[in-house]
Amino acid sequence: METKIFNAVTQYENGTKIGGNVIRSGGLVAFPTETVYGLGANGLDGAAVKRIFEAKGRPADNPLILHIAKKSDLRELWTSVPDIARRLADEFWPGPLTLVFNRSSIIPDEVTAGLDTVAVRMSANKTALALIRASGVPIAAPSANTSGKPSPTTAQHVIDDMWGKVDVIIDGGACDIGLESTVLLLSGKPTILRPGAVTKEMIEAVCGASVNVAKSVLKPFDASETAAAPGMKYRHYAPEADVIIAKGDAFTAASIIRREYDRFEAAGKRCIILSSAESKAFYKGRRYDIIGTKKDMSTMCRNLFAELRLHSSDADVIFAEAMPTCDLGLAYMNRLLKASGFTVLEE
Ligand code: AMP
Ligand code: MG
Repeated sequence: METKIFNAVTQYENGTKIGGNVIRSGGLVAFPTETVYGLGANGLDGAAVKRIFEAKGRPADNPLILHIAKKSDLRELWTSVPDIARRLADEFWPGPLTLVFNRSSIIPDEVTAGLDTVAVRMSANKTALALIRASGVPIAAPSANTSGKPSPTTAQHVIDDMWGKVDVIIDGGACDIGLESTVLLLSGKPTILRPGAVTKEMIEAVCGASVNVAKSVLKPFDASETAAAPGMKYRHYAPEADVIIAKGDAFTAASIIRREYDRFEAAGKRCIILSSAESKAFYKGRRYDIIGTKKDMSTMCRNLFAELRLHSSDADVIFAEAMPTCDLGLAYMNRLLKASGFTVLEE
């Protein structure tokens, strides 16, 4: 397949108009959002949605998110709109929060992977919104990566995974947030299935009550647990290199990383350390990248997937420091733990 690429700034009109036509006629368009790049198809056309799964090599039981351009579009996608959803949408939409509730009959099974709920989000990205409006339908989209790999946060990442497999790529530069949206299940007690930049603390402030966090956010998926989101059971975000996390205070984590780095290097392995700005002095003489600062977890989130992709070919082992799991740290650690296959070393 011939892939066309448009620049979201210099070819905004053409990109969104042609992209919208492609979506409407059953094709695939990769587009920027504030979280990561999405791989979109007409969310009301089961055959079009199927092509997303083929392009990604995605297991058919892992559902997609419907992207809408205005809040009122929710009404036709769900059986009803609960009051809590309205309040959360008013506070956080457009933005990085996906809400999951009972699906209406217009949604094809391919979108929900057969579940009786459907996930919906309104992105804050101007190009994404224009593309959805131009297409005239809700756009079903997962992240635009080959299944199992770190999500794409630049158009180059999308090109690396999807060239020749999609009709259009719209290049909107690097994504602001860099991690996928928070996924919140609203049937029953609100439960965070995937943490993101709209944090547990922010959601609880709007709900006026505590919300649950799915066990598999920080622990390996347990087959005895019923999966609210089947996607939770798959290996995710994994670069080709092994990822090893060191846990403890800054000094302890750095000692573990230095010891393991030297051990792997002596065995002929190429190592890289993803260091916080605060810890770099610990790694002098070894190969490290500064991934961000502990004072602003959003920098670490923004860089994580790009770093994992960058070093998938020039390193055999990637070391990273564990971060506290409050606020944005929960989303960061969720992705890092999954990328590492839950490989955590501590004293
Ligand atoms: P991606 O953004 O690539 O991870 O794909 C969309 C994600 O949304 C999936 O991994 C699921 O975890 C989540 N999701 C989509 N639909 C549902 C649903 N009906 N129930 C629970 N989670 C969902
Ligand atoms: Mg994904």
